[in-house]
Amino acid sequence: MQRAFNFNAGPSALPLEVLQIAQAEFLNYNGTGMSVMELSHRSNEYDKVHQRAKTSFKELLQISDDYEVLFLQGGASLQFSMLPLNLLAKDKTAAYILTGEWSEKAFKEAKKLGHAKVIASSQEENYTYIPSHANLSLSSQTAYLHITSNNTIYGTQWHSYPELVDIPLIADMSSDILSKKVNIDQFSLIYAGAQKNLGPAGVTVVIIKKELLTKIPEHIPTFLNYGTHVKQNSLYNTPPTFSIYILALVLDWVKNQGGLDGIETRNKEKASLIYQCIDKSDGFYTPHAKQDSRSNMNITFTLPTEELTNCFLSLAKENGFSGLNGHRSIGGCRASIYNAVPLESCQALVKFMEKFRQIN
Ligand SMILES: *Cc1c(COP(=O)(O)O)cnc(C)c1O
Repeated sequence: MQRAFNFNAGPSALPLEVLQIAQAEFLNYNGTGMSVMELSHRSNEYDKVHQRAKTSFKELLQISDDYEVLFLQGGASLQFSMLPLNLLAKDKTAAYILTGEWSEKAFKEAKKLGHAKVIASSQEENYTYIPSHANLSLSSQTAYLHITSNNTIYGTQWHSYPELVDIPLIADMSSDILSKKVNIDQFSLIYAGAQKNLGPAGVTVVIIKKELLTKIPEHIPTFLNYGTHVKQNSLYNTPPTFSIYILALVLDWVKNQGGLDGIETRNKEKASLIYQCIDKSDGFYTPHAKQDSRSNMNITFTLPTEELTNCFLSLAKENGFSGLNGHRSIGGCRASIYNAVPLESCQALVKFMEKFRQIN
């Protein structure tokens, strides 16, 4: 069977090895005579899966015991509101840096629930770069600063993060979590929908500093309170068991790739192959992102005309490349090269891009 060159933006490619293990265990998980999906979420067998996912995640990202790791539902999108609901006190203001549509959406939800303001933005320049964080002015009344670490739609990525004293730094890391080493201690809360780098859709990972838990107001709905899920070890209600099982397998796979060191090296190699092809194309391929803000996860570019872009996309599709069309809001092309996209797919894409340029 021929697997596609999968450049989907999310849900996206999963490691073949993970799919093969899941396939082999599909009907009879670990001698239980049933699929993981059919196990009780209160059973011993499932509990081992749940704990393994949590422990591996903490190990890989070197998360200290000052933090809790939660497996929630509702996607990163629910975090846009859950975050201010839990952590935006009435007398404080949340600060947001706008770097794309996802940060706009996060900001919009915060405004519905309290005071929120934009303290930096690259919106005027069509989100082609990450604003400088050298001279951020944040008052002591700032509840938290929110950033989006990788901008999936525009193809930009933060390569260093603001260093704040006394103000919690919060990041939506949906599209670059586990793609490189990150100093977790710099952050108070990190959230990520799983369907880009971690596993299938359905589970959302939240890393929260324990000291924040004391500040959560009691009046908010039980299910939307981070404290509920901490107390119940993400088993307050039925969790997305199959997604968490695949997440555990993906984490094993990351360990086998040499952990985050190995993954980061591979990701840089993959991204630089494609950026080199773009840079050497004499302006045939134009990158959307400015050089210092380029993402190693989502590579966005256009061709000289819309007609050529469309021609490129349809010919790519015929040749087995999937998901190369840009997001509907900016058009053009986008190659999403998350952890599980093999180097071979990137090499094949570069070959195709070079050939297409020669012909046209
Ligand atoms: C995909 C994505 C989201 C939305 O995630 P859902 O899980 O679909 O809610 C939010 N933020 C970023 C950065 C994303 O890439």
